[in-house]
Amino acid sequence: MEGRSRPTVWILGDQLNRGVASLAGREPRDCRVLVVESDAKLRSKRWHIQRLHLVLSAMEHFAAELEEDGFEVDYRRAPTMGDGLRAHVEEFHVEDVVAMEPMSWDGRGMLRRLGVETIRNNQFLCHYDEFAEWADSRASFKMEDFYRWQRTRLDLLMDPEGPAGGRWNFDHENREPPPLDGRAWPEVSRFELDAIDRELLARLPGYWGAEPDGTWPVTREQALVRLDEFIATGLHTFGPHEDAMLAAEWKLAHSGLSSSLNLGLLHPSEVVEAAEAAYRRGDASINSAEGFIRQVIGWREYVWGVYWLWMPDYRRANSLGAHRRVPPAFTGAASTEMTCVASVIGRVHDHGYAHHIERLMVLGNLALTAGVDPPAMTEWMWASFVDGAEWVMLPNVIGMALHADGGTMATKPYASGGAYINRMSDFCSRCRYDPTKRTGPVACPYTTLYWDFLARHETTFKSNHRMAPQLAGLRRLKDLAAVRARADEVLAALDAGAL
Ligand SMILES: Cc1cc2nc3c(=O)[nH]c(=O)nc-3n(C[C@H](O)[C@H](O)[C@H](O)COP(=O)(O)OP(=O)(O)OC[C@H]3O[C@@H](n4cnc5c(N)ncnc54)[C@H](O)[C@@H]3O)c2cc1C
Repeated sequence: MEGRSRPTVWILGDQLNRGVASLAGREPRDCRVLVVESDAKLRSKRWHIQRLHLVLSAMEHFAAELEEDGFEVDYRRAPTMGDGLRAHVEEFHVEDVVAMEPMSWDGRGMLRRLGVETIRNNQFLCHYDEFAEWADSRASFKMEDFYRWQRTRLDLLMDPEGPAGGRWNFDHENREPPPLDGRAWPEVSRFELDAIDRELLARLPGYWGAEPDGTWPVTREQALVRLDEFIATGLHTFGPHEDAMLAAEWKLAHSGLSSSLNLGLLHPSEVVEAAEAAYRRGDASINSAEGFIRQVIGWREYVWGVYWLWMPDYRRANSLGAHRRVPPAFTGAASTEMTCVASVIGRVHDHGYAHHIERLMVLGNLALTAGVDPPAMTEWMWASFVDGAEWVMLPNVIGMALHADGGTMATKPYASGGAYINRMSDFCSRCRYDPTKRTGPVACPYTTLYWDFLARHETTFKSNHRMAPQLAGLRRLKDLAAVRARADEVLAALDAGAL
């Protein structure tokens, strides 16, 4: 029968690009394409509606684009991924199925079990095998060292005499508190929802969060618009304000590109090349271009590498023995008077998004100091953010935010009291809690819990020389007993959704 021996290329939901290794160079007559929408995945978490819509819409739009290009696409809804593949193989009498290496540990196991041939993943600039080789060749593998290695081998922001601008790192220039002059921040285009989106939303009832409003690109064309916009209007202010937070501003000068990168709509190389080109044209300062490129070829690729290096044990790491449930103020089960949490959770509700410092120093910091269970926190964040995926969530939540890996990734916990949030935002000036107070009814919960956290884990942190100044501060506290008593009240109120 004609077409019987054509191989099937199975495109997974985060490989939505004609350039992925399994599709690159293929013509419509060479293969058939399979896309499976798994009901089990759809029901596996309490997804934010924008997250679910984004992934499914992007999958359907990509399938439609391939069909327009002449590919035969089998877009299949099935109880599980495996069921979808088996039904496809049976219907089309397929002998060979190929896929690009998936982005998750479990996905890799599934493809192996199903006998699917895999092709090396080309969605990152550093494959995890290369990362493992790099890591293997050194005693410690710091992100900064990896980033410099990437810059050099990829020849990004490099001048003949060394790193562009004469330095590798411009973090010092990039930690400005937020400007409070009421300035306008870059706007982002909203993309009109089409028939695919409307049909999708009609069959996805019962999820939480604000309905999709076209903020997140669902096609490569839209993602390229977002990239161009960011380069033209956001990049030049990205650096100085990348750590700042403002109650009235959900994105400041951040790029909003993570979901497009993580779904494969954009490749990291085109994103960083566009940023470097802006710097070379004189449209972006070195600290902004460097700060942004560091995020993409440094942090993003680093967490991808460590995920594969440390899985599967990494997902169970809980070195601080934290078992508290995710606060109701995060999940939406309760409101909160902590302005920082209310503002950030408001963005998560409205957009399925918060920027890096909000994730780390508002949500992560509170979860760390309160002792929230790492798998539960990972699960909640994964379901709540439009860019969530296990490979990026685990190192960021387990390693960076919760210090649950005992310091394998970040040598020191990212714990801080209200003073940091006060310095980097305008939240505290409009909050009923006072960041300078650690006891009493108006003490900032962050400040109280910070000291309580240090006291709870003093023995563990004693051997960490980077924690010496904090522990010295703890020992100087005259009112530690009162702080710890207040911490008990704060934790009870946090659990009860009454803070
Ligand atoms: C607790 C926690 C959870 C996180 N969860 C996710 C997640 O599920 N998915 C995700 O993509 N990012 C995650 N991050 C990283 C980072 O917060 C987001 O990538 C970023 O906020 C996305 O917004 P943006 O595109 O506007 O980023 P920008 O600030 O504009 O940064 C540019 C790009 O750099 C990359 N990047 C920057 N920092 C990181 C990082 N630490 N890890 C990986 N990539 C990075 C992203 O691709 C991002 O699009 C998490 C960080 C923390 C602390």
